[in-house]
Amino acid sequence: MAYSATLIPGDGIGPEVMDAAVEVVEATGVAFDWDRQEAGMGAYESTGDPLPQATLDSIAETRLAFKGPLTTPVGTGFRSINVRIRQHFDLYANVRPCETLPNTHGPFEGVDLMLYRENTEGLYAGIEYFDERNQIADSINRITRRGSERILRYAFEDAERRGRKRLTLVHKANILKETGGMFLAIGREIAEDHPDIAFDDRIIDNMAMQLVIRPDEYDAIVTTNMFGDILSDLMAGLVGGLGVTGSANIGDDCAVFEAVHGSAPDIAGQGIANPTAVIRSGEMMLRYLGETDAAEAVRKALHDVYSEQANLTRDLGGTASTSDFGARLADRV
Ligand code: NAD
Repeated sequence: MAYSATLIPGDGIGPEVMDAAVEVVEATGVAFDWDRQEAGMGAYESTGDPLPQATLDSIAETRLAFKGPLTTPVGTGFRSINVRIRQHFDLYANVRPCETLPNTHGPFEGVDLMLYRENTEGLYAGIEYFDERNQIADSINRITRRGSERILRYAFEDAERRGRKRLTLVHKANILKETGGMFLAIGREIAEDHPDIAFDDRIIDNMAMQLVIRPDEYDAIVTTNMFGDILSDLMAGLVGGLGVTGSANIGDDCAVFEAVHGSAPDIAGQGIANPTAVIRSGEMMLRYLGETDAAEAVRKALHDVYSEQANLTRDLGGTASTSDFGARLADRV
């Protein structure tokens, strides 16, 4: 049986890294029937719509997408398509693991952290407006009980499934007393249903500092949308940068897998981007589908390929091209 999945190559380095990721995922022997669709700046330029109806229809049908990064214009222009996809399919849990691979020369050895980020509300709810004279701009930080409960429940349950021992809730409830305060209060309520996981909380600014001096003291982190967005890039910096961290956007019956990084226009089209991040998201997709052996094979092959510095891409001091790296990994899966 082949799994039906929507494949979105994306913008910038997207098509290059996604080719390598598809090669690796298919090398596991798990079969996919890909429905290739456009989104992002490329789709906008060719069809006038950065999120064509055909792409939405495809994901609505397959309930599973493997996507490359999409470019979003800064300040003006269309809203982020990534955010729209997450909101449209109600993909409320953004899961971002962060594990050290050999030879990545991060500031610490053996980092192994999970980040759970609320993915549909908070400051990214998209509720923004100007006053009538364009002198005041407001963004609404919308936190709901339902949105908080479901990400917090997901974080506790997934942390348990992965054998994690501790979950730290990150907030700014000292200043954002209503929104942050509610998220924290709900976290404390749900923690009572999970006595096997040690639960505590940290204020976001302190957490940023703690993570860059003693990441080994933390295990799994759960937080609201924008704090999670920022902390996940910080955590990528602990394990070799944005080239290596994958992510999953999970809803009740639909999931979209993508890298943490963006379309990297500064290196696009040169064949030098690191495909590890989208390969990691492919590994997460296999795990989500219950193809645990295939996911483990990808994880082991990554550790194996990373054990030789020469196999790595330029961001990590190696000389391999994007496609060389994909082919070497696919050979060892
Ligand atoms: P970026 O993540 O694209 O790049 C940041 C830096 O990391 C760049 O120097 C880039 O070269 C490097 N980098 C990123 N991925 C890499 C890889 N696989 N291998 C080697 N180096 C890599 O962030 P940005 O430049 O701030 O954003 C570019 C565009 O991507 C923006 O339009 C942004 O909105 C979009 N974006 C999309 C997503 C997504 O699709 N989920 C996520 C973040 C940013």
